[in-house]
Amino acid sequence: VKQEGRCGLRFYEASMNASLQLRLQLEQELAGAIERGELILHYQPLVNGITGEVETFEALIRWQHPSRGMIPPSDFIPLAEGTGLIDGIGRWVVEQACRDAAAWEQPWRVSLNVSPSQFRRSDLTGIIANGLRVNALNPERIVVEVTEGVLIEDTAKAVMTLNRLRDLGVRIALDDFGTGYSSLSYLQLFRFDKIKIDKSFIRKLGQNEDALTLTRAIVNLGHNLGLHVTAEGVETQTQLDMLQTLGCDQIQGFLVARPAPMGAFTELNRARVSA
Ligand code: C2E
Ligand code: CA
Ligand code: CA
Ligand code: CA
Repeated sequence: VKQEGRCGLRFYEASMNASLQLRLQLEQELAGAIERGELILHYQPLVNGITGEVETFEALIRWQHPSRGMIPPSDFIPLAEGTGLIDGIGRWVVEQACRDAAAWEQPWRVSLNVSPSQFRRSDLTGIIANGLRVNALNPERIVVEVTEGVLIEDTAKAVMTLNRLRDLGVRIALDDFGTGYSSLSYLQLFRFDKIKIDKSFIRKLGQNEDALTLTRAIVNLGHNLGLHVTAEGVETQTQLDMLQTLGCDQIQGFLVARPAPMGAFTELNRARVSA
């Protein structure tokens, strides 16, 4: 190998190789992660905007890696989407979440994230129908969260899939609302049950007058269309106060609870903590 300068090409290549190598290795490890039981679901409560009562738990996947520790979805879902591993992972999420929800002490809803490639590639309706049947779960207890990305390509087919899901009796939420390029036009293509205001708006509530104006507009828009509105990423009491004043239906965020294994939220656990 040719000798290079202090910050020369060789160093650059070496770091490129290292990150490519890490990617390939992660990919290989991810392929066996389900069988090894390394994928887990954490849950985060969504509470009623007025009463504060828990209505729904959103399932958020994590990879409990034996040597690398807890890997967040942002570090492996894109990888899974690029390699097709998302099909198996997505199926596992649905099956696990349905099993979990069927065992809960109260009939809370369970909200599932579905990424665009998963939505396009897999038989989501069939997988969810199966999860409902196997666990004797009421379809009304399932919420499917999609982003506008599912509607960008092959819109007609995507709308058909959403309608088939709707026919199953599950609810459909438009996630990350307001961040995309054409959230508004997508509201015309399909009648969602709910929109989730992206946390980038909520973060600026209380700091920025425009954020309040935008959030108010989104809440009113949703309500005028007959949709439920959830705010995600609520971290402060000020944000909560403002959202309650705006009449936001549902609140999710670290202020209420961080995502955690379901055991952190059970009756038994609460009893233990307060005992
Ligand atoms: P998302 O669906 O928008 O989920 C909300 C993210 O915000 C979660 O990050 C959650 O932990 C985080 N969060 C909740 N409350 C707060 C808060 O008050 N402040 C802040 N700063 N963050 C908050 P997480 O768990 O890392 O998930 C990231 C993304 O990964 C999700 O974004 C979703 O797009 C994707 N994802 C998670 N689970 C799954 C899954 O099972 N399947 C698929 N396809 N994607 C998933
Ligand atoms: Ca979500
Ligand atoms: Ca979101
Ligand atoms: Ca997101």
